[in-house]
Amino acid sequence: MPHAETASNEIAITTAATPSWRTDLAADPVRRLAGPIAEAVERLAGALPPVRIVITGRAAGAWIATQAEASAVGGASLRTRLGKALATWRSARAHDAQAMTLLGDRSEVLVVLCAPDLLAAGETNLIETLGHELVHAAQLNRPGRRQSRLADLQGNYGLVERPIAESYRAEAQICLEEAEAHELEPAILAAVRA
Ligand SMILES: [Zn+2]
Repeated sequence: MPHAETASNEIAITTAATPSWRTDLAADPVRRLAGPIAEAVERLAGALPPVRIVITGRAAGAWIATQAEASAVGGASLRTRLGKALATWRSARAHDAQAMTLLGDRSEVLVVLCAPDLLAAGETNLIETLGHELVHAAQLNRPGRRQSRLADLQGNYGLVERPIAESYRAEAQICLEEAEAHELEPAILAAVRA
């Protein structure tokens, strides 16, 4: 399996179950750049957990993301998963999202990349996008964060009742993490280009 080594962990890079010429084409620059990007992220945002990058199309990506999430929260009905996948796909399409970072199995973090969008947008965009997502992976590796994210997801999936204050806290945390990931994009780009 193609992979890139980082100081603290390994990044596995795969294409989705139904690879096309676009996923294959997008995989080349990802394989070439994942190592240097991860190195910059570890220096700027902290150690990465084991990361699996999946390069796929948008609809397949939404399904893969939902399956991973449902498995991380400990099960959700097919109906719930289909509903979530549809919502994820709609939101990705509406916001032109090129990537998602999710909890994977055990300590793993999953980064889903949308191949057609990445190919269209060029290398600078790829470095910024993958850098941004790997910052989210580093955030999920910080003490206690994986557990709190999991609790938020279990609330989202209706598996546990959560007080409304907890939902506000979760949203505020996500805003802070988004801000950090955006702010680090230029520094990651500069480090990889250096
Ligand atoms: Zn983000």
